[in-house]
Amino acid sequence: MNNVDTYTPTILAIDDMPVNLDILVEHYQYEKVNLTVSLCPLDGLKLAESLKPDLILLDIMMPVMDGYEVCWRLKSNPKTRDIPVIFVTAMCESTDEQKGLDLGAVDYISKPFVMPILKARVRNHLELKHKTDKLLELASIDGLTGVANRGYFNQLFAREFKRHCRSTQPLSMIMIDVDYFKLYNDHYGHVMGDECLRKIANALQKKIKRPADLLARYGGEEFVVILPQTSHKSALRIAEILCRSIDNLQLPHEKSTCAANVTISLGCATAEPEQHQQCEGLLNAADSNLYAAKLQGRNRVIGEAVQPIDVVKYTESNIRMFG
Ligand code: GH3
Ligand code: MG
Ligand code: MG
Repeated sequence: MNNVDTYTPTILAIDDMPVNLDILVEHYQYEKVNLTVSLCPLDGLKLAESLKPDLILLDIMMPVMDGYEVCWRLKSNPKTRDIPVIFVTAMCESTDEQKGLDLGAVDYISKPFVMPILKARVRNHLELKHKTDKLLELASIDGLTGVANRGYFNQLFAREFKRHCRSTQPLSMIMIDVDYFKLYNDHYGHVMGDECLRKIANALQKKIKRPADLLARYGGEEFVVILPQTSHKSALRIAEILCRSIDNLQLPHEKSTCAANVTISLGCATAEPEQHQQCEGLLNAADSNLYAAKLQGRNRVIGEAVQPIDVVKYTESNIRMFG
């Protein structure tokens, strides 16, 4: 996300009357705002999805589709539902205003409007949106390493699993655990331990290149990678790259018995999810393979395709301890 100094908000204005859009363009041309305008509500909907503006100014009376329906569609679409909408309209009955606000608009401005007041309201809503975005970002990030946290991982994993249930694409996952990290902490201290985790997260993140892939800190010294639409063969290749990238950091670890430096073990699993299945099966499979990697000597990748997934519920017998 942009920080305060570089933040330039994006506004999308949808109105069928060119003159109304011209007024906005004239008044915003020297402001620190990216303004995009659309005369057609259908184009406006598409722009909202692709641009993801910070605010939408929306007329109501338009041919083809009125502003109420545009707003309803925006609020029904997960990709656009969090974008604040302000109606800017000549319809000034209180019932019109109530309908607009009930549909989820954050504000309602009647035409003819006073430009400084419109701008002040727009500024207030943009500030709120910026603060909300920052809070959402903070809530999804792990404070120590800066990668996604467990909560964000859980959400994204459940969403990806459902999405893959509707397709025939494979979903891959890699579970990662730092080797002999307790000994590392005991020997070098917790401050160095924290620094080591940051370096590991940073090195892993550099190798996770596709926008759809996600690296998250799963807990303590464990990380997890979700690889949507990725075959088992590709996932294994990526896991090997991750394993080598940490080995190559050459962070000294005097107490490790598998190498002279810090290493990780990785468990890889892939599935083509089906409707009745649950995502825990894939997680458990990756976790079992990670356990196997530990048993087989650490600093390695173990993987096997899981197809179909057995829905394994956590029971006492499959809670495992490493070390
Ligand atoms: P194994 O190779 O079997 O994974 O052994 P291990 O020592 O890595 O595993 P174990 O689960 O016994 O110990 C994990 C250690 O990770 C214990 C804890 O001190 C350390 N750890 C967990 N979270 C943090 C953290 O946020 N910062 C630091 N410095 N250490 C952490
Ligand atoms: Mg562990
Ligand atoms: Mg460990």
